[in-house]
Amino acid sequence: MKIFLRILIFSLFFCPYVYGADVKELYSDHFIIVSDKSIEEEYLYKVKDMAEDYYKVVTQEFNFIRNDPWLWKNRAKIFVAKDRQEYVEKYNCPSWSNACVDYQSKMIFTYPQQENFSSILSHELTHIIFREYVGKEQLPLWLDEGVAVYVASKYAKNEENFAALKQKVITGKYIKFSELNKITLDELKNKPRDYIDTFYLESFSVIEFLIKKWSRYNLDNFFKFLKEGYSVRDSLYKSYGIRTLEELEKQWNGFYQK
Ligand SMILES: [Zn+2]
Repeated sequence: MKIFLRILIFSLFFCPYVYGADVKELYSDHFIIVSDKSIEEEYLYKVKDMAEDYYKVVTQEFNFIRNDPWLWKNRAKIFVAKDRQEYVEKYNCPSWSNACVDYQSKMIFTYPQQENFSSILSHELTHIIFREYVGKEQLPLWLDEGVAVYVASKYAKNEENFAALKQKVITGKYIKFSELNKITLDELKNKPRDYIDTFYLESFSVIEFLIKKWSRYNLDNFFKFLKEGYSVRDSLYKSYGIRTLEELEKQWNGFYQK
């Protein structure tokens, strides 16, 4: 699988965490980087600059005008553990993940020296900003992940493995939308790796389909209706004329069969 599926990022994951004296902090306009004392300053400055850049571009991605910018006490926190082991033990994130996020508290948890860190960070920031934009109502996981992978792939320049997806669509081995729409993070965690890879790629492909078949304008409308409080189903109908999940699946299927 291509890069972005290997860096699978588990998100929307609640990690209650209180930090102690063995950490240092780096402040920027919108972020506080909290790291283990052993982490080099140079690396932390890189994380800070990257986070500030993505804060701007991801916010613009949703044409989002905030009433409440991430300033002062409202800054987001990025926790950088000493290493992968500490990341898993201290933050209680899944052992196979590269980062996890508590979007309500605006906290991202990760560890240093990861390939494709820009993709990881843009993905997690998208989760926070997307939910901040549309509001905190329940959304199906595929929508959160699809949007996060879409934005990360746009800015971090990862490639998607559409050939693999196409093959799954042609042979009927993709995740049926009735299942895709219901699956929760806890359920996904217990699935085999291949299923998880398919879940992320397929979620992303639905967003990609909604842009390629129509336009980015329709997707923006879709998000706008979600923000106004409409359900996913009603927002889809109002911005695409698609009435049901089955209809979405049928059209999506036809698109990738080609
Ligand atoms: Zn995610």
